[in-house]
Amino acid sequence: MIKESIQRYLSGQACPALRLRAVLFDMDGVLFDSMPYHATAWAEVMNRHGLHFTRQEAFLHEGRTGASTINIAYNRQYGHDAPPELIEQIYAEKSAAFARFPEPRRMPGAAELLKKVQADGLTPVLVTGSGQRSLLDRLNHQYPGVFAPERMVTAFDVRHGKPDPEPYLMGLRKAGVAANEAIVVENAPIGVQAGHAAGIFTIAVNTGPLDGQVLLDAGADLLFPSMQALCDAWDNGLRPLLCPSKNGSQPLPGTIL
Ligand code: CA
Repeated sequence: MIKESIQRYLSGQACPALRLRAVLFDMDGVLFDSMPYHATAWAEVMNRHGLHFTRQEAFLHEGRTGASTINIAYNRQYGHDAPPELIEQIYAEKSAAFARFPEPRRMPGAAELLKKVQADGLTPVLVTGSGQRSLLDRLNHQYPGVFAPERMVTAFDVRHGKPDPEPYLMGLRKAGVAANEAIVVENAPIGVQAGHAAGIFTIAVNTGPLDGQVLLDAGADLLFPSMQALCDAWDNGLRPLLCPSKNGSQPLPGTIL
């Protein structure tokens, strides 16, 4: 299944080989189990302002910028975008509501996978739409020494958020690699769309309540039910195909070099 997925990706990109050098990680729902808090905070604050928005929708639209998320609900009710000052107010309240929750735990399997990625000589890069400084600061405490500041893309770096490919294209630039030298690890449909649109092999991890098919429909090349499952598969199937030289195995003819 993994081999076929890679071959399908390569023929779709008209690309001869995948030469893995960097792994681009999304943050919320991938490195931190923070999405349940985000979803509750979004629903609570939107409803407080008379906007209809459910927790499930928060998972569906996860990865969008705050303004884009607010405008989805606002447009549905009023037929036009929300005034900028209201967007600012709602986003500030949402950030405050999120900050009241306990510190999100590391996603099970994430730290172990990062260790494997680093041991394989690959560069980990963070690509998040988040502009929440509390979580960004926490990265250094929870994953010390993993993400160099110059290899992080956040809401402060890009003009267009996911599903636009810009964040992942910038991640490639910061890592100094081409699209066929990286993979993306994402949990949200919009993030998967962004990775796919950037021409990168995109692995989806379904860590939330959505149907996995939504992630495949968004363009995921591979789907795992959790970060732990991806971490386990790294040794059992992925590494030999993505990093054949690390495993002492031969690359797939015509595909992986
Ligand atoms: Ca995410």
